[in-house]
Amino acid sequence: MPNCDLLIIGSGPAAWSCALTARQRDLSVVVAAAESSTGWLQKAERIDNYPGMPAVSGKEMLRVFRRQAEEAGAQVIPHLARQIQPMGDIYMTLCGNDIIESRAVVLAMGAARPRLLPGEEELIGQGVSWCGTCDGMFFRGKDVAVLSAWHGGIEEAEFLSRLCAKVDYYTMARHDLPAEHPFTLRDGKPLSLARENGKITVQTDISAEGYDGVFIFRPAVAPGSLLPGLALEGAFIPVDRRMVTNLPRVYAAGDCTGQPLQIAKAVGEGNIAAISAAEDLA
Ligand SMILES: Cc1cc2nc3c(=O)[nH]c(=O)nc-3n(C[C@H](O)[C@H](O)[C@H](O)COP(=O)(O)OP(=O)(O)OC[C@H]3O[C@@H](n4cnc5c(N)ncnc54)[C@H](O)[C@@H]3O)c2cc1C
Repeated sequence: MPNCDLLIIGSGPAAWSCALTARQRDLSVVVAAAESSTGWLQKAERIDNYPGMPAVSGKEMLRVFRRQAEEAGAQVIPHLARQIQPMGDIYMTLCGNDIIESRAVVLAMGAARPRLLPGEEELIGQGVSWCGTCDGMFFRGKDVAVLSAWHGGIEEAEFLSRLCAKVDYYTMARHDLPAEHPFTLRDGKPLSLARENGKITVQTDISAEGYDGVFIFRPAVAPGSLLPGLALEGAFIPVDRRMVTNLPRVYAAGDCTGQPLQIAKAVGEGNIAAISAAEDLA
């Protein structure tokens, strides 16, 4: 269980800039950098408006940013942050299957917004879950479905297969699956969820089947469900000029705070968030 002063969630320009400055301010830093392809910048073939790096590709820019932060001493864990809980003066964050304790948190998750299935939001906590580790025990010996948009769902489905009587795996977006797995791979693209006769029905384009529980895994988590109580304005996190959110020692930086969605703005905000965190923790 790594403990640190500052946990930074994200792996874009805002996160790496924040990590670098936080290390220069002598904070211990962990960066939760999910290994996925949802980062905006990796899609950019050529960037021409970031000073000092003319005609650079997004991938190359990210590689350089990350290396610099790691060389400065930031510890990187390749997992999606799934849930943050305040516990007295610290924050406990579930990253993959690890819990990270930190004194402060910077949200630098970019602007990617997971699109939920119809019925999903209403059923969260009532048979539908985004976390196998947190909620798997409630479904011991029962039938569950895993709906997954990325390879992170495989490990969760394997874990659930050790607890549950039956695990059906539906893919929501293409990803490679191991040749051998303990769950049943189902055809059909999930379209919606509904509660019917005490079960959760997974409606796909070719079938409808009822389960005791449904677990949904995507390479992104909506900010409001990541951290309960976090104020949002539409899809964005409102911050003041110090990048402070409505919660104590929680800061936000980059595209997740709103327009303009630009690298230079993300880097600047990451820098400010690190300075604010260092001041507040001193
Ligand atoms: C094709 C394209 C071209 C662009 N060209 C330019 C340009 O030329 N100039 C310019 O200034 N801007 C450009 N942009 C915009 C620029 O990419 C963004 O403004 C910038 O990347 C924002 O940085 P960020 O750190 O806020 O977020 P992002 O770069 O989106 O990074 C956020 C990262 O956090 C990760 N993440 C999300 N949730 C979690 C979680 N729960 N746990 C762990 N990790 C998580 C995501 O996977 C993602 O990798 C372009 C964007 C695109 C798509």
